[in-house]
Amino acid sequence: MRFDVITLFPELFTAVSDSGVTGRAHRQGIWSLNTWNPRNYTTDVHHTVDDRPYGGGPGMVMLSQPLESALMAARAHQQAQGLSPLPVILMSPVGRRFDQSAAQVLAARPGAVLLCGRYEGIDQRFIDQYVDEEISLGDFVLSGGEIPAMAVMDAVVRLLPSVLHTADSAIQDSFQPSLSGLLDSPHYTRPELFNGVPVPSVLSSGHHKNIARFRREASLALTARRRPDLIAAARQNGWLTREDEAFLQTLAPTQ
Ligand code: SAH
Repeated sequence: MRFDVITLFPELFTAVSDSGVTGRAHRQGIWSLNTWNPRNYTTDVHHTVDDRPYGGGPGMVMLSQPLESALMAARAHQQAQGLSPLPVILMSPVGRRFDQSAAQVLAARPGAVLLCGRYEGIDQRFIDQYVDEEISLGDFVLSGGEIPAMAVMDAVVRLLPSVLHTADSAIQDSFQPSLSGLLDSPHYTRPELFNGVPVPSVLSSGHHKNIARFRREASLALTARRRPDLIAAARQNGWLTREDEAFLQTLAPTQ
């Protein structure tokens, strides 16, 4: 998996390339990161990457030319490595909301170019000509696309084969179809008593079937309480068993 990131702040990306699970996978060569700074592709002495908006108004807009030249440099590098051009994804609050299924779709591809906006955003003509997809992290506005790009990379890389130590780790996560799209159940570790509160006894019973049932019911109860929309979606997908439905009947109504 290869990520090319077009950003004015390449130094921020060590957060994903150097630390934790994604850092280890990067060192193992499971994914690679190339950053392209539009500032290095300017043609004026001041290395200008932004200008005032046509039509007036506050803020600055990223210039098309340095972005285009940075993208061409990324494409040339991809081609030199025998890759076809990777899709260009713009981080943008007006994009489609990112979620676990979007992460899975990306994880199955050879990579992507992630484009990080700054200021008020990017000249629309560049977006119209080069951007294949727009992704939003959620309904809030950040000052740049770098944190969303890192969030996307982290979510995708941890899905790649052999990145997580236990193969089952990712399939047990919240939102995964293998968990019927439900929220994950709570986790416990040692000590057995913390401030007088014990671990639910079934978890130390060694009885795998009961443990699985306990976790399933904890997931169902939590999801019913916090995200009834995910219960409805699971039902629609045929992911709930008759046992699940019987358990849901025992829960107090949420409204
Ligand atoms: N004027 C824009 C916001 C610009 S914020 C608007 O109101 O829609 C500057 C940059 O931060 C954007 O170009 C985008 O790359 C990034 N950004 C901000 N919020 C984001 C979000 N929720 N998801 C993804 N990217 C975001």
